[in-house]
Amino acid sequence: MNQFIFIQSGEWDIILTIKFKWIHSLRWKLLVTYMVLSFLPLMFFSISVYNTLEKHYIQERKAELQRQVNIMAGHIVVTGYLKESTIEQKQLLYSDIQQTSKEIGARIMIVDSKGIVKNDSNKVDIGKTIVQKEVLDALQGTDTAYKQPGSDIIHAVASIKDDKTQEIIGAVIFSTSVEDIYISLKSVQKQLSILVILTTLIVGLFSFYVSGVLIRPLKELLQVMKKVTEGHLDQQIKVKGKDEIAQLSLAFNHMSERLLEVDNSRQEFVANVSHELKTPLSSIKVLSESLLLQESLPEEMYKDFLMDITSEVDRETEIINDLLALVKLDRKDMTLSFENTYLNKTIQDILKRLHPLAQQRNIDLIYDSRRDVYARVDEMKITLAISNLIENAIKYNKENGIVTVILDADHQNAFITVQDTGIGIPAEEQHKIFDRFYRVDKTRDRMTGGTGLGLSITHRTILLHQGSIKVISEEGKGSTFVVRIPLH
Ligand code: ADP
Repeated sequence: MNQFIFIQSGEWDIILTIKFKWIHSLRWKLLVTYMVLSFLPLMFFSISVYNTLEKHYIQERKAELQRQVNIMAGHIVVTGYLKESTIEQKQLLYSDIQQTSKEIGARIMIVDSKGIVKNDSNKVDIGKTIVQKEVLDALQGTDTAYKQPGSDIIHAVASIKDDKTQEIIGAVIFSTSVEDIYISLKSVQKQLSILVILTTLIVGLFSFYVSGVLIRPLKELLQVMKKVTEGHLDQQIKVKGKDEIAQLSLAFNHMSERLLEVDNSRQEFVANVSHELKTPLSSIKVLSESLLLQESLPEEMYKDFLMDITSEVDRETEIINDLLALVKLDRKDMTLSFENTYLNKTIQDILKRLHPLAQQRNIDLIYDSRRDVYARVDEMKITLAISNLIENAIKYNKENGIVTVILDADHQNAFITVQDTGIGIPAEEQHKIFDRFYRVDKTRDRMTGGTGLGLSITHRTILLHQGSIKVISEEGKGSTFVVRIPLH
């Protein structure tokens, strides 16, 4: 029975991919490019050198033959050949023709005014008529040297004129082979070809080596990137030199650091969330357990404990609400409902709402609204963001302190400044306050009831509005937050 081996088309694909994978490599592409770039100009150079040499030698040979044929034509005129000449004169001319023919290695033919061959050093064409254009031209008075394309023989023709009447009575033709020129040119051509091939090979080898050196760091980069893709985020590449590849490696290192930071902060965030959510729960557990353990407690105590439990539940709710707000702001598909908003009124309303909180601590709220400002914002989100800033300015203020809110704008941006005379933020903490759950003083800030998420929400909201926020603060003297929001 016959046995067949079936190769499925998919397998062919694999075989072809393996076989021709190298074609797609940068090294191969560079190699081919450099080889072509060196081969083509060298090739053109060789061809042009060959053509110039050929033209030069052939031209030289033609001029020489023309000189010789002219001498011979003069000589023929003197002997009176083709007219009346003595037998001796004819004999003398014949031997002269034979000798010259031998000396310069040329065939010599003499034709009369009708183109009939009267003398031929090869003796084969005597009596035949020559109808070659150049010979006919010579019989009309135009002497030329020429070479028929494809043949290795050049000819020179000179007219013979009657020395008295100046009438053309015939022509003399010299023909000689230029094979020797082509033999020399062939050797030049061979040497040029060797030069082209050798140079191309050397360029090929050199570019193979150089592209290898250039591509090595890219390969390393690729390897490391694959590792990062697999989840090993702590990858760094050794940066050598300052070229583009070094810059790429540097950029990769930064990216990988950033990725690690993001990963760490994500883990930290999850840990913080768990911790923050656990704290009120632990308090609730402790409070309810102590209620259970104590028998027959006065009603007052029950009420006290239950109030504490309620405030812990409120806190838990507050954290969850803030977290949900942040998660919403983080979503990629988050859309803001932009509306043309009269910011003066928005801030006025916030201040009205926070007035009781300020009053509790006897803090003055000053509103400096410098001009009418309309901006395209998501009013609900911006209200929350600005409220957080003003709430903080009240919370982290001193008794009898002042909170000043300034609203101003230029042609492009609205500026909202929230200034307080409070406790301030230490310089080394200032860049961290926008981080999630970050609180400068954990114990004290917890007493003020913050979740550590307020500024993160504000920051994120301002970024979503393409704006910016910065903080200027001095410990013990107060803080100023400046928010910039583009008007359009
Ligand atoms: P919280 O809910 O704890 O107020 P925030 O994210 O709003 O959280 O603020 C983070 C931390 O930044 C606060 O815990 C506080 O330590 C500090 N902070 C924010 N605003 C001010 C301010 N106006 N003055 C002093 N410290 C501030």
